[in-house]
Amino acid sequence: MFENLSEKLQRSFKTLRGQGTLTDENINDALREIRLALLESDVNLNVAKDLIEHIRTKALGSQVATALSPAEQIVKIVRDELVEVLGRDTARFKFASQPPTVILMAGLQGSGKTTTSGKLAQWLKKGGHRPMLVSVDVYRPAAREQLKVVAQSINAQIYEGDTKGEAAGTPLVERLAREARREAANYGCDILIVDTAGRLGIDEALMEEMALLKKQLNPSEILFVADAMTGQDAVNSAKAFNDKLTITGSILTKMDGDSRGGAALSIRQITGQPVKFLGTGEKSDAFEPFHPDRIVGRILG
Ligand code: GDP
Repeated sequence: MFENLSEKLQRSFKTLRGQGTLTDENINDALREIRLALLESDVNLNVAKDLIEHIRTKALGSQVATALSPAEQIVKIVRDELVEVLGRDTARFKFASQPPTVILMAGLQGSGKTTTSGKLAQWLKKGGHRPMLVSVDVYRPAAREQLKVVAQSINAQIYEGDTKGEAAGTPLVERLAREARREAANYGCDILIVDTAGRLGIDEALMEEMALLKKQLNPSEILFVADAMTGQDAVNSAKAFNDKLTITGSILTKMDGDSRGGAALSIRQITGQPVKFLGTGEKSDAFEPFHPDRIVGRILG
């Protein structure tokens, strides 16, 4: 995770080794390298620009005598700015005041939405909750079946509902969602995780369906599941979902792959909503809350 970016940033700090003080010139040299490291790691252009400007302002402001070497000064500034870009504090997970808390999972097909619904359920179970899962992807029976397998593997409740003889469409989706919420209350489940229809791109009809689900279920969390391997595409989709639905956060999956890290560094700035979790593998426990400071620690060592 982040090895590539980490290596490139370390290289850019090297330009400052052996320098006595921070000068306009060596700051500019280092910034050029840092900018390149960010862009090569697929960080969004505007996010990279903002970051560089903030680092520049702070670096120019720290041209004073200090015990720190110029390289150490820049590393510290970059560290602080990266933490800022990632949202500084670990984002809180929101629960409803009246159970069940509803969580809507959104995302493109293949992003890892169903796997992540299971991971989130398991994480909540470990925290002493009783989650129930439901898939309202009535357009893909295989997706509903997949969630059932996931639920069984982690021993979580699932509401399947009866969909026989009913046309796949928004009315069926709304019925399943309504029944699932009732079932969750009946079973004493305090959380309902709703796995929604996957889509290949931004699909207006499915977006409308999500908006209706939001209205119907009043979810505490609308989490956008983004495949980190798809870099800027993931960030752009997150923005489109946020523009339409106002998401409450994102979950970045496949962080164990060789993604260059750009999505992780850009998605919060572009959507204005924090990254809440990371998916780091195919197994149900390959999942962790997103801590900005620890992530920056991984990037800068
Ligand atoms: P959905 O179509 O969005 O519901 O996506 P799925 O949950 O079916 O996941 C698509 C593929 O990505 C599956 O093969 C998952 O095992 C895999 N996957 C999901 N999350 C992760 C992750 O964090 N790391 C890795 N390596 N694979 C993942």
